[in-house]
Amino acid sequence: MEAVGRVKRIAGPVAHATGLKANMYDLVLVGEEGLMSEVIGISGNKHIIQVYEDTSGVKPGEPVKETGGPLMAQLGPGILTTIYDGIQRPLPLLAERSGDFVSRGIFVDGIDHKKKWEFMPTVKKGDVVKPGQTIGTVQEQLLIKHKIMVPPRHKGGTVKEIHSGNFNVEETVCILEDGSKLVMLQKWPVRVPRPVVKKLPPTIPLRSGQRVIDGFFPLAKGGTAAIPGGFGTGKTVMQQTLSKFAEVDVVIFVGCGERGNEMADLLHEFPELIDPKTGRPLMERSIVYANTSNMPVAAREASVYTGMTTAEYYRDMGYDTMMTADSTSRWAEAMRELASRLEEMPGEEGYPAYLSARLADFYERSGRAEILGGGEGSISIIGAVSPPGGDFTEPVTQGTLRIVKVFWGLDTKLTQRRHFPSINWLESYSLYDKDLEPWFTENVHPDWNKNKRRAMAILQENAELEEIVMLVGSDALPEEQQLTLEVARMIINYWLAQSAFHPVDCTCSFKKQFDLLAATLKYRDYAFDALQRGVSVEQITSVPSKDALAKVKLEEDYEPVLQKALDQMESEFKVLR
Ligand code: ADP
Ligand code: MG
Repeated sequence: MEAVGRVKRIAGPVAHATGLKANMYDLVLVGEEGLMSEVIGISGNKHIIQVYEDTSGVKPGEPVKETGGPLMAQLGPGILTTIYDGIQRPLPLLAERSGDFVSRGIFVDGIDHKKKWEFMPTVKKGDVVKPGQTIGTVQEQLLIKHKIMVPPRHKGGTVKEIHSGNFNVEETVCILEDGSKLVMLQKWPVRVPRPVVKKLPPTIPLRSGQRVIDGFFPLAKGGTAAIPGGFGTGKTVMQQTLSKFAEVDVVIFVGCGERGNEMADLLHEFPELIDPKTGRPLMERSIVYANTSNMPVAAREASVYTGMTTAEYYRDMGYDTMMTADSTSRWAEAMRELASRLEEMPGEEGYPAYLSARLADFYERSGRAEILGGGEGSISIIGAVSPPGGDFTEPVTQGTLRIVKVFWGLDTKLTQRRHFPSINWLESYSLYDKDLEPWFTENVHPDWNKNKRRAMAILQENAELEEIVMLVGSDALPEEQQLTLEVARMIINYWLAQSAFHPVDCTCSFKKQFDLLAATLKYRDYAFDALQRGVSVEQITSVPSKDALAKVKLEEDYEPVLQKALDQMESEFKVLR
């Protein structure tokens, strides 16, 4: 029998209670209304509790009930397409129970326990099954076959009975020789990583369809990336674009908005996104966690862990998943607020000293992995960071950059010039570069890396020249340098710039990325060759085929168009003298 404690003190999202036996991180229900809460500290006979729901009206003396365990995610068919709040309560169900606003102390299952799913067994009587092994499947959505697995902490055994047909998630689908019954529902403590056999090296790129990313600063499958950027620089658009076009099976989108309307936008926009793979709603292979503005800060942390647990669950089925958090700064601010309420010793800018450790634990749960059931799955994490004033030296950005391997720094100056994606090509980096080079060479083109380095060197030189141009104007530059400026401009406008809203250019295959860049570099070679022969810069930069290159990216069937432009270029340069 679980103990019942009493509220001693309550201030915002933090309660102190006595009379509890609960362990650290156990879920407890605070007050007459039973508000969902978590033990975050124990000192003597006092339990310190963070409450995931609004605590107005809760008074000292009210009961605190134990639940006997930590916050668990419910895992099983029916998670996909759902929009949850921070503690895995489906928002539509909450709205139904409580009217439009989230009322308090409502317990709702994370997945529907009544709904029947058609279970198709993949093992038979007498088979020996081990933890993580698939025993059957359910067609959860058009593209996603949900694998029903032996839970990771179950010891497995020999199948005595296996059923097929329609079942809800609580009904037994399999009985083992030792009498244990398996159902489709699994529960997992959200703060604990789900086990894998081993993590695998980041040697395969995660195709994002974005040239500046794949071409310059690639993310590995199972990798981690941060997108820091000031307000309006394109963090949300980038995360939505990646959700649509990145080569993943399942998308987990965690929204932690501070301003109420940011969440309203998410709830409005995400369900409208169309999956380019199916032409149907992207929600069919997505899960959204939305921290609505009427939920207290503590729920942000819960949403990050719950989101991660669902990502791991689909990874365990062998899927490539992507988890995006928009923005992790709001989560960090929640930590700061709680730390100050707990009167902990503040670290840099008031953030708690454990900020970095928490961020590290989160990103650590990413990776490509050999899964328990055999085969591979992955979790790639993309965390938006919104530093106040766009200042990347602040602690959350710095703390994140020490952990993640890819930095896509959004640049207000580029946003102001309407250059999108406004990822700064001089400051950004990918530490997967070396690991991924062999893949690109083998699978796309032997010159992939060489061309990338050439293009980056041109942009580097361009940045140095631009400073001189600011002082003396471009006419004062030697002719070669004038040409370099022109080629850089082409790389920037024809290749790096990519509209998320153009029907064709919103995504780009590896081959097209390569071909487009190679074409601009080809122009550069012709141009410098002509210059050697004494042709003027003026003539070189006004060859009509050059401008034909600008439009190629907008073509679906681009190859003939590109070939025509290249043929034209060859003949135009031949006659230049
Ligand atoms: P943030 O989330 O960083 O505050 P948003 O993602 O909402 O910024 O982007 C702000 C605006 O910038 C968008 O509404 C859109 O007009 C423009 N934008 C951002 N990224 C792109 C892109 N890749 N292509 C075209 N427009 C973009
Ligand atoms: Mg945003």
